[in-house]
Amino acid sequence: MSKIIKKLSQKESTTLENVIEKPSTTLDTLEVTSDLFLSKSHETLYYSTLRKHSTILSNLKLIDVAPKVWKKKYWKAYHCKNVILQDGNKFQGSLCRKRWCQNCNRIKTAEMIKGYSQPLIELQKEDDLFLITLTSKTVKAKRLRFEIDRRYKAITRTKDSLRKNHNIKLVGCRKLEVSYNEKEDRYHPHFHFIQKGRKEAEMLLEYWYKHNPLAGELGQDIRLIDANDCKSLVEVFKYATKEVAKDDINAKALHNIYVAIDGKRVFQPYGKLKKVKEEPEAKHEINDADFIPPNYEIWQYDMSLKDYTNPYDQDLIGTRQMEFDIEEEEQKKNKEKTMRNGK
Ligand SMILES: [Zn+2]
Repeated sequence: MSKIIKKLSQKESTTLENVIEKPSTTLDTLEVTSDLFLSKSHETLYYSTLRKHSTILSNLKLIDVAPKVWKKKYWKAYHCKNVILQDGNKFQGSLCRKRWCQNCNRIKTAEMIKGYSQPLIELQKEDDLFLITLTSKTVKAKRLRFEIDRRYKAITRTKDSLRKNHNIKLVGCRKLEVSYNEKEDRYHPHFHFIQKGRKEAEMLLEYWYKHNPLAGELGQDIRLIDANDCKSLVEVFKYATKEVAKDDINAKALHNIYVAIDGKRVFQPYGKLKKVKEEPEAKHEINDADFIPPNYEIWQYDMSLKDYTNPYDQDLIGTRQMEFDIEEEEQKKNKEKTMRNGK
């Protein structure tokens, strides 16, 4: 079997914070914009507010297309961190911990990376680690849940066969991801694995073909990764779907995905890989209140302002102004770049 083994270039590696905190911005922009904020905490809250705004919009669309029992679940994400309690120099907001909440997904990803990066670094000392992507034919909505179950079973059988017939014990973890092809109205459940050992990785692929005869070679990928590089880990620990619903068709598809993976373990370690220690999931998010005077205050989210306000109508973040300032700064920088390149 000749499978391309690629190595992530150094250029692609970056810190955990940058990868998960501001996924939509480039590193280039970050350098410029960081100076515009009053403090690190101000910046963190600004980006978390943008994610809240986007979560509200996409959950409103999900609520529109979902049956009653599901509407309730989506409203939970809609209300996530609606109130921030200021206690002296700290902010505290309660989290919904739903898959369809961007802020909670980001927190979950950070918790997972924190819990698994050290064990993976240890595992890497024994043998190389590989990021494996395994895909197969896309399916229609009504078959999605069944197909996910079938593929889970195929993986369990692969593990058993490798142990019994080849004396190979697989060590690593796997994550299910489901994407959607709007043009064909079909769903694409697939897996990302982090697996120890090149031979083991190739055997896993070989058995994947056995269980999924329709799987094309183009969809599969094996590449060497470095556990010290957060970016390669993010692929496995980030959320299971693209979480933003752009329109009604999209919202319906997104809802179908959430129904199909409801109650399922999206992430699963196997072999001897274990989390550092079981810390309870964060139910609250705490930030430093270092850019406003210390006080005891209740800040309430205002959707039209994209900001939190207190009873005296003061804004907490100044989101709209910050958006304007950041855009202006970017334009200025682009102009300078064009002028420099023009010479
Ligand atoms: Zn949430």
